[in-house]
Amino acid sequence: MTQSGSVGDAVQKPTVDQDTVEADTVDWDALHAAAVVAMRAAYCPYSGFPVGVAGLVDDGRIVSGCNVENASYGVGLCAECGMVSQLHLTGGGRLVAVYCIGADGQALMPCGRCRQLLWENGGATCLLMTPKGILPMSEVLPQAFGRDDLDKVSGAGTTSDEEPL
Ligand SMILES: [Zn+2]
Repeated sequence: MTQSGSVGDAVQKPTVDQDTVEADTVDWDALHAAAVVAMRAAYCPYSGFPVGVAGLVDDGRIVSGCNVENASYGVGLCAECGMVSQLHLTGGGRLVAVYCIGADGQALMPCGRCRQLLWENGGATCLLMTPKGILPMSEVLPQAFGRDDLDKVSGAGTTSDEEPL
């Protein structure tokens, strides 16, 4: 792993093959740096619990997000919500590696709902930095519900021509 000093240089090659991405090809330091920047932008006046997350996309770019709370507590947005929105807003693609942190800069596990977001946008092979090291989503959300479950029942499940997960 190298210190690039640039969040735009998160991988050692310009395009990441999600099926073969390995933990040591990801610049986790760059992802962490982007997550820290995001965390510092968090809007969390109620909990005082800022969260930042950054994800490496399969085309090499980095997307990020911070949590955004609301006076109506239940509608607060997790950091992953913003990151996934930025993913689609900036061209789509698949997440191949994700690093979520709290105020202490340490790896923070996504909540249950956000694991589902990561599954939808990264699938089983997306790597996640966790307090116990780097794990694939298949271990973070075992037996996950996803698009293929819709296909099994309806035969359609989506209007997208993308391959099911
Ligand atoms: Zn969440």
